[in-house]
Amino acid sequence: MRYFDYTATTPIDKEVLETYIKVQNSYFANTSSLHSLGQKSNALFEQASAEIKDLLGLKQHNIVYTSNATEANNLAIYGIVEKHIRGKLITTKIEHPSVFEVFKNLERKGYDVVYLDVDEKGIIDIKQLQREIDKNTILVSIMWVNNIVGSIQPIKEIIKIVSGYPKTKLHVDAVQGIGKINPDFNFKDIDLFTISAHKIYGPKGIGALIYNQNIDLYKRLYGSSAQYGVKPGTIDVALVVSLCKALKKYLPLTEEHYQYVLSLNRRFRSKLENQEGIIFNSCLKASPYIINLSLPHINGETIVHILEEKEIYLSTGSACSSKLKKPEKTIYNMTKSELLATTTIRIGLSHLLSQTDIDDLAQEIGEIANV
Ligand code: PMP
Repeated sequence: MRYFDYTATTPIDKEVLETYIKVQNSYFANTSSLHSLGQKSNALFEQASAEIKDLLGLKQHNIVYTSNATEANNLAIYGIVEKHIRGKLITTKIEHPSVFEVFKNLERKGYDVVYLDVDEKGIIDIKQLQREIDKNTILVSIMWVNNIVGSIQPIKEIIKIVSGYPKTKLHVDAVQGIGKINPDFNFKDIDLFTISAHKIYGPKGIGALIYNQNIDLYKRLYGSSAQYGVKPGTIDVALVVSLCKALKKYLPLTEEHYQYVLSLNRRFRSKLENQEGIIFNSCLKASPYIINLSLPHINGETIVHILEEKEIYLSTGSACSSKLKKPEKTIYNMTKSELLATTTIRIGLSHLLSQTDIDDLAQEIGEIANV
């Protein structure tokens, strides 16, 4: 079996799983319970949150743990927007559905939403953002690394522009960047950002919304006062500590893994770059963890099934939209070609892959393209 779908999800790291089991067994008491067992759970929970903040260089941010990044993105956007009667919203045409569909819903409710274009590399035009943002803008939401092609948005410049508008909040979906790319910006300068444990060898079932403590988020759920009242309910300490463990283990390895994965990416490209019938949609400056290509004479879904027969697993575009046979929106917005956007596959790389894995995959895809 060869797995090339690490963008969709990663297997849980052995040490992280051991941590999960240990904490689940020993710290099962409710963090809100007054007795000492509950207080021990709470102390561990607080310690994990403090460590995560330290790792990310944060002092003024709160962390709210959610079931996944989808929930965190929803909480972030509705949490800001529903505090205001009206106001302009800015996002991009290539956000993950957990951001994009929220804005589509807000548009239906009458909000003025601007969807920034992307160029052929999948990158926004910073001048368009400069033109669109104004004093009535409530929120700008722009992903760090795109999950379909790996394009990296200029977050540092975006922070600079948004900071010129004191009432405007910046939300960044950091799911595909964290633990994979060293940021050239500081997380502390972002008002709200989201991460997901299962993309970085952590468990499924936990994401986080991390936001500046000066922000008063609109509350969508009612219950206890746990997690600032933003996400009430009993906290799974084991999941939180496991997320912390994954970050502690993988953040310091970011550069080492990046360089290795970059070498795998280059190796794959060098084998297929000049082959007829294959078009690379990901550009060289994108995250090396994602290679997106189109074989214009063959449907992406068909390619997935041909490879599956050989126990090779990858995706058409995003796993979340792969059951819909619509053109993939990131590819469409980059290429303006419906053909390229329906014949696309995504290879998600990892430090766990070997050169032989890459060579075998290149050979299989090369053969499909030759048919
Ligand atoms: N944003 C991006 C960029 C993603 O790649 C994903 C996962 N496909 C999500 C958000 C949603 O993450 P989760 O699966 O944790 O809800």
